[in-house]
Amino acid sequence: MHLDYVFDPPEIPALPVTEQGPLFPLRRIFCVGRNYAAHAIEMGNEVDREAPFYFTKSAHCLCHTGREIAYPAVTQDCHYEMEFCVAIGAEAAQVSAANAMDAVFGYASGIDLTRRDLQALAKHLRRPWDVGKDFENAAILGPVTRKADFGEIADQTIWLDHDGTRAQNAPLSDMIWSVPEIIADLSRLYTLLPGDLIMTGTPAGVGAVKPGSVLKGGIDGLVPVQVTIRKDGQ
Ligand code: MN
Repeated sequence: MHLDYVFDPPEIPALPVTEQGPLFPLRRIFCVGRNYAAHAIEMGNEVDREAPFYFTKSAHCLCHTGREIAYPAVTQDCHYEMEFCVAIGAEAAQVSAANAMDAVFGYASGIDLTRRDLQALAKHLRRPWDVGKDFENAAILGPVTRKADFGEIADQTIWLDHDGTRAQNAPLSDMIWSVPEIIADLSRLYTLLPGDLIMTGTPAGVGAVKPGSVLKGGIDGLVPVQVTIRKDGQ
């Protein structure tokens, strides 16, 4: 039977893989909240290891590195959050931390763009975070580097420069929950499948962007991401 649609289906969001060739098709984006102690403290939260928690972004919020984007709608306080991203390449359901890394395809640099004022209002009203986190261009992602090419996750530096000034700078070893622990925990809640991507939280130093801001951030061993916020009226 010929399947037809009432309109053209959207393009599948996809990331380049560093050595070129086929693309990594993006499925779901999971984000970890408060995974660096110093960032939890700067946001006024207690640090605990009770359990990681998550929110999601639509894969259609993807913004490729190198783009210029409009200042996001409605917000007066849009923040950058630099994050180490884990690209899933195999099914993972109910996996242990010891086996979790088998599901990893590779890693990418990413910025979790956040409408902080809308997120703060949602927190205050005990509402979901979606309007603060899941909006156009809110997932700025670089190309995927294969797991073997990156090597072990250790104390590589995660960093972000805002208009050329270093704003975020921490070792990946500062993560409260390690990547295998996050994958194991998420795989209890969801059947992780190829194309899923996990943004593993941001270190301290988040801040507001302005029209004209240039953000550049990366992780040692990965391709950096860069984005420019257009000036008013452009
Ligand atoms: Mn984040």
